Amino acid sequence: MGNTLLKWLGLDKQSPYVKNYFFHTNMRASIYMSVVVIVLELWMIVRMTRTIFVDAITGDAFWKIVDKYYTNYFVLLGSGILMLLYAVRFLRGKPWTSWLSLLTVGLSGAVCVYEIRAFAMPQTLTVSGAHIFENHVIQLSASVMMIVFSVVLILSKEVKKWASLSVLYVFSFVCINFGIIISTNSYANGEQILTFLTMVLFVVCLLTWKPIIGCMVLSASYIVLFHRLNAMPAPNTGEPGLTDSTVINGFTMWISTLMFCISNYNKTMQQALKAEHLEEVNAYLSKISVIDDLTGIHNMVHFRSEAEKLLGYVTTDRENVVFLYLDIENFKYYNEKYGFHEGNELLRTFAGMIDAAFKGSLVSRFSDDHFVVLTRYESCQDIINRLSQQLHSLQREVLLELKCGAYRPAPEETTDPSVACDRARFACNSIKKRYEQDFQQYDKTLEERFRLKQYIVNTIDTAVREGYIKVYYQPVVSTADGSVVGLEALARWLDPRYGLLPPGVFIEILEEHRLIHKLDQCIIAQVCRDYREAEDNALPFAPVSLNFSRLDFELCDIVGYLEEQAKRYHVPQEFLDIEITESALTEQQNFLQKAMKALRSGGYKVWLDDFGSGYSSLNVLKDYQFDVLKIDMKFLSGFSDNEKTRPILENIVNLTEELNMVSLTEGVETQEQFQFLTRIGCDRVQGYLFSKPVPISHLRERIRQGELRINDAYVHLGEKTL
Ligand code: C2E
Ligand code: MG
Ligand code: MG
Repeated sequence: MGNTLLKWLGLDKQSPYVKNYFFHTNMRASIYMSVVVIVLELWMIVRMTRTIFVDAITGDAFWKIVDKYYTNYFVLLGSGILMLLYAVRFLRGKPWTSWLSLLTVGLSGAVCVYEIRAFAMPQTLTVSGAHIFENHVIQLSASVMMIVFSVVLILSKEVKKWASLSVLYVFSFVCINFGIIISTNSYANGEQILTFLTMVLFVVCLLTWKPIIGCMVLSASYIVLFHRLNAMPAPNTGEPGLTDSTVINGFTMWISTLMFCISNYNKTMQQALKAEHLEEVNAYLSKISVIDDLTGIHNMVHFRSEAEKLLGYVTTDRENVVFLYLDIENFKYYNEKYGFHEGNELLRTFAGMIDAAFKGSLVSRFSDDHFVVLTRYESCQDIINRLSQQLHSLQREVLLELKCGAYRPAPEETTDPSVACDRARFACNSIKKRYEQDFQQYDKTLEERFRLKQYIVNTIDTAVREGYIKVYYQPVVSTADGSVVGLEALARWLDPRYGLLPPGVFIEILEEHRLIHKLDQCIIAQVCRDYREAEDNALPFAPVSLNFSRLDFELCDIVGYLEEQAKRYHVPQEFLDIEITESALTEQQNFLQKAMKALRSGGYKVWLDDFGSGYSSLNVLKDYQFDVLKIDMKFLSGFSDNEKTRPILENIVNLTEELNMVSLTEGVETQEQFQFLTRIGCDRVQGYLFSKPVPISHLRERIRQGELRINDAYVHLGEKTL
């Protein structure tokens, strides 16, 4: 209740935004008001001056006019000009207006001189009466104030809010006083008190006042006017005192102007609240558009725009500018081990550390565990070393390594921040998995590789269309009889410019740029065509295992595409197997589980590739169902000198058997390895010992030469499947 009353009176607490909104609204309104006042007063002055000249008014009559009208016109005109100057200057910040205030000084100065003269020689006053004396005081003080504020305006570079507000109050006061004086004169002449009404409407309806203040201003103005009128004879009766109808009219005018004032306030308040709300939403939106939600430091959008601006400013010492790309190696495993919540906590803490370490530089989080900094090169390596130690202090059982790539734009280069970040990232990625190195600067060698990367991204469509992408096949051999029981399809890029590119060069880049599905679709189509050709011409062939990227399931309907191609070339499902690398399955992803189920229920076999290469091997076996387990070749790399590899391999093979999967070891290069794997019961092997990945024609040639033998189940392929 109390609050409602306070609100109704305009005494409730207002936010700075709302206060400011009211102030600006009043400044804008005062422009219209002062322009009207200036035009009106100029017209009045010209009219009066003309009357003086035409009627050749001199002597007492002249001073009477000066006293009664000119001083009032001058004060009102002066305050109107000053108000206009203040409002324009405040809203537009235009300094040219200050010289115009000299005009106000002139007008107010003239009034001051006249008023001082009037005080000094009261006998010269031609209009008498108590209120006339009050009026002299008012005119003099208003003029002095206007001179003061004119000087403030001339001297100050920036208009202060308090000064503008004071001018607004003086102007309003002068307007109402003018209305009272002129209307008192009009009343004495038997005319209506329209000037007062106009001025009141100007002040309380064009400007916005809090209801309580509006009510006080209005009431005071009406009381003063009607008090004066009451002391005068009524024009219609000639009797002293106000007539009933004038009192009633006055009351009606008071109440209606008050209502206008309140309604104006409420409307403006609603607009102010709406604008404030919009402003808040806007501020929130612009904050989230530049702040990284998780860590609270800036995001990539902010970095790019600010970096561009910063590089624009820096004209000297440009060789000292460096873009750093920071990456936490093994963060993925930390996330897996401790969960996303802990992972996020680590990112937040480390983001704070980076921000503090590079205080004053541009720091942002790009994505996941990737941060970018634009700073000075001088001491950046020391800072990175310190950050590296700080990161170690956060790690638990998962070893976390900070990797940093640096790109220093050439001083004369016009640097695009996106390209600079790409280069720094490229440098950073080049030292991944190299535990001894944590800092790499982008250099000429990397430049070459960077160009190749860009080439791959830009050329993948052409490569697919023009047939640069080829399928090489590597046989999978059964340990039971040494026959070929499968072929792994491995992509090669035969480029007219760069020659033969192995997958190690392009797979990661295509995955990074989310283009890998284009390559995998191309391989699926080629494998299906090769099958059809083999079957149609009774050529040797065996079931083919295709490597799928995790992203294939996200970027396209890879299962749908596989079925479509298989149907198109009449390839039976048993001839197509899918390899999914272990690292793709590290995060629990529903869509992958679904896709794998769809593949298996569609009759395709799903293989787990590179088993043992990551951290989550056993979990993967628990969460997903596989037909074949491909043991990573890293187990064979230390075969001859590492005692432990043999029992480990044996255990994995036994586990595979227990879980009803087929075991396959890749990377078999020696007879010794082959024999060992055969002895421990590994079902299949694959490796250079039998064949490197080769084009289909080579493979057929080797089979023809008897170097490789296709398993009996597939020799009469054409006959079997027809
Ligand atoms: P992966 O699927 O594990 O393929 C096995 C890789 O080991 C092949 O390398 C193969 O040439 C190599 N390799 C086979 N036997 C031996 C050996 O005895 N000794 C040694 N040192 N290496 C051997 P490649 O062809 O360079 O492929 C590398 C990786 O690229 C593949 O690993 C696979 O993850 C990926 N990849 C290849 N083709 C495709 C494809 O069409 N699509 C997708 N998504 N990935 C592919
Ligand atoms: Mg593979
Ligand atoms: Mg593999």
